[in-house]
Amino acid sequence: MKTSFISRVLLLAAIVLFAPRFSQAEEPKVKAAATIGMIADIVRQVGGDRVQVEQVMGPGIDPHLYKPTATDAVHLSQADVIFYNGLMLEGRMADLFSRLARNGRKVYAVTESVPEEKFLEPAEFEGHYDPHVWFDTGMWAQTVPTIVKGLSEVDPEGKALYEENGKKVQANLEALDAWCKETAGSLPEQKRILVTSHDAYNYFGRAYGFKVVGLQGVSTVSEAALADMSQLVDFIKDQQVKAIFVESSVNPAAIKRVAEDSGAKVGGELFSDAMGNPGEMHGPYDTGTYEGMVRHNMSTIVNALK
Ligand code: ZN
Repeated sequence: MKTSFISRVLLLAAIVLFAPRFSQAEEPKVKAAATIGMIADIVRQVGGDRVQVEQVMGPGIDPHLYKPTATDAVHLSQADVIFYNGLMLEGRMADLFSRLARNGRKVYAVTESVPEEKFLEPAEFEGHYDPHVWFDTGMWAQTVPTIVKGLSEVDPEGKALYEENGKKVQANLEALDAWCKETAGSLPEQKRILVTSHDAYNYFGRAYGFKVVGLQGVSTVSEAALADMSQLVDFIKDQQVKAIFVESSVNPAAIKRVAEDSGAKVGGELFSDAMGNPGEMHGPYDTGTYEGMVRHNMSTIVNALK
């Protein structure tokens, strides 16, 4: 009796001691950090089980205004590799990124692999490129090579996996882009007018054939001026625009007033500079993922303008 009890205890101890070894292969090898959800999602897909991803900005956070906290600085300094959008999207994090890079962290702007001639340079952004690249899913697919490169650099053993995953992710994003073109195409051209809070949708407009009008400039730093509001009201009445849209990361007050004054309805909430919570379902779409966010935005826009 006693020996069998002891051997059972020993067996249990052995299971407890050795079990972690069996799961070791699945423990993440790389600690990555990403600023916005749209980047974190792609890094997760490319990295698979080898990569643990820390996301700095959660749902509803405006990256133009976001100031990193002391905790962010600690998290980022512990990451092996950091991915951010670049093109001045994360304006208040720039100093921290250069400090981290100087201290030997690998820091990558994911937009560096997007061909420069594709960037838009809206007049409102005074000589800078428009940072909202994720709205053109075909362009967003071109950020994948930077993510593959960054992960491979800090984890050369995983390179083959990252390259394989990267190809799949890129193909999926291209298929999503084709779906966007087809869905936008179901709306007659003269109805493809998108009025929303800030000019985040220039790339969206170019890729999917929409005329885009924003109440604020490209960055959300400046408040909507009253003159802009009354101009926008006239434009909406003139063009008989049926619906205008609020954004999850921008205060909806101004756009709601424009809706009231112009007689257009608020066509729904778009996710622009931040995704939803993980698992946050809007109809069939999980807006906590990049794909879900893209499908939700396109369906919301097309259905409201039909
Ligand atoms: Zn923005």
